[in-house]
Amino acid sequence: MISIHTFVFSDFEENTYIIHNEAGEAFIIDPGCNSLAEENMLKAYIESNNLHVTRLLNTHCHIDHVFGNQFVKDTYKVQLACHANEQVILQSVPMVAQMYGIKRYIPSTIDEFLKEGDTIMLGDTALEVLFLPGHAPGHVGFLNRKDNWIISGDVLFRGAIGRTDFPYCNHQDLIQSIKQKMFTLPDDLVVYPGHFEPTTIGYEKKNNPFMKYETTN
Ligand SMILES: [Zn+2]
Repeated sequence: MISIHTFVFSDFEENTYIIHNEAGEAFIIDPGCNSLAEENMLKAYIESNNLHVTRLLNTHCHIDHVFGNQFVKDTYKVQLACHANEQVILQSVPMVAQMYGIKRYIPSTIDEFLKEGDTIMLGDTALEVLFLPGHAPGHVGFLNRKDNWIISGDVLFRGAIGRTDFPYCNHQDLIQSIKQKMFTLPDDLVVYPGHFEPTTIGYEKKNNPFMKYETTN
């Protein structure tokens, strides 16, 4: 059984996930900490739970999901893994930071590329990499079939879907990612999104107004 801890970080209210097993091995997914106070919160959680961080993963590389990448790399001596198509997004973050007037941003680089079908082991639990492009060109989700959840960034939210009005977004790709990859998962599977509260596949299939529109039009 993998435990999931969520931090909501920065003015973007981004969900940063720390997942770990009983042995204390931990992955950090989308570290959005962007102040000393937030970095200390993350560090304190790791320390007080005696966790050993072995991986840093990004669902995608929009600014709010990568603020803490370099802090995590430096602090825990881990490599950053994400999809190759996110390279262009990560490289544009310093410019985006400038646009938003954000002064505190430490650039990071990708060390390892992930692709659809890859399996990442956290102890004896497999996380499957699902390629979910649309909101970002190399967006991925991390699916844990054993515990019945997915950490899927900004693809599907409770009652909403990811924005596609940023550079490199593609609305049709996003709809296909949700229809073909997310909505074919079990109805009771829990979705841990990049913002807001968790939801389930079944709830969104039934209630998501954006997807209702897409299936009737
Ligand atoms: Zn995003």
